[in-house]
Amino acid sequence: MNDAAATSLLLRPEDVPPVREFNAAGRSPFLLTCDHYGRLIPHGLGDLGLPESELTRHIAWDIGIAGVAEALSKHLNAHLIVQRYSRLVIDCNRPPDVASSIPRISEATTIPGNEGISRKAALLRRAQIFDPYHRRIGEIIDQRGSAAMPTVLVSLHSFTPVYAGIARPWHIGTLYNRDTHLPPLLLQLLRAEGDLVVGDNEPYAVSDDTDYTIPVHGEARGLMNTGIEIRQDLISDQAGEIAWAERLARILGEIETMLRSQQLLSA
Ligand SMILES: [Zn+2]
Repeated sequence: MNDAAATSLLLRPEDVPPVREFNAAGRSPFLLTCDHYGRLIPHGLGDLGLPESELTRHIAWDIGIAGVAEALSKHLNAHLIVQRYSRLVIDCNRPPDVASSIPRISEATTIPGNEGISRKAALLRRAQIFDPYHRRIGEIIDQRGSAAMPTVLVSLHSFTPVYAGIARPWHIGTLYNRDTHLPPLLLQLLRAEGDLVVGDNEPYAVSDDTDYTIPVHGEARGLMNTGIEIRQDLISDQAGEIAWAERLARILGEIETMLRSQQLLSA
């Protein structure tokens, strides 16, 4: 992008806002986030130099997770906040100062629209997409705290069944780092389902260098938290999305009961 384009606003009137919320009055202690919900690209960035076939696959977004997240929000009566632009524009689960924040390459695909991006253009993507999303998550957590509502952060993702030629056996994975309460309960209940290959920090683990939502909104604020990753071929149609939302709603409901009985759910 040249400087003239970079100094104009990235999001124009025809572009939708990055943040969308569902069930904002939901009373569940679970606050659901979806960093890779959408695959929109601001009109001013065109197609980032990529064919449609690249812009619809997993490098652009978390396939299937939107349907799961919306249905789960309904089942749990939980507030869900999502980010609608593609992670190829800016990854909302990466610290904005790391190279993969605005990826020049993803899996084996070069992203022409991100090559040689100026600092100014990168800052604009951050200011107009990344910052509003994370600012809003922070506000929601603040408001819940002021209202004496407990918050347990659940960050929803999906993963591709084959990455760089390697097949992944897990149906679902928990992702965590510092929380010692929620992830063990989730692992225990997922394994008790009996029909699942459950990843314990697989296919990814959470770290301060590779993640943003959990370290910043969960760990730094002392909230119980976990990431959940579902394999994309299991949620590639509406039936799969609904089935997984129902299963997770049942399991998270059981976890809520357990946390309440241990008096771990106070604001
Ligand atoms: Zn994701």
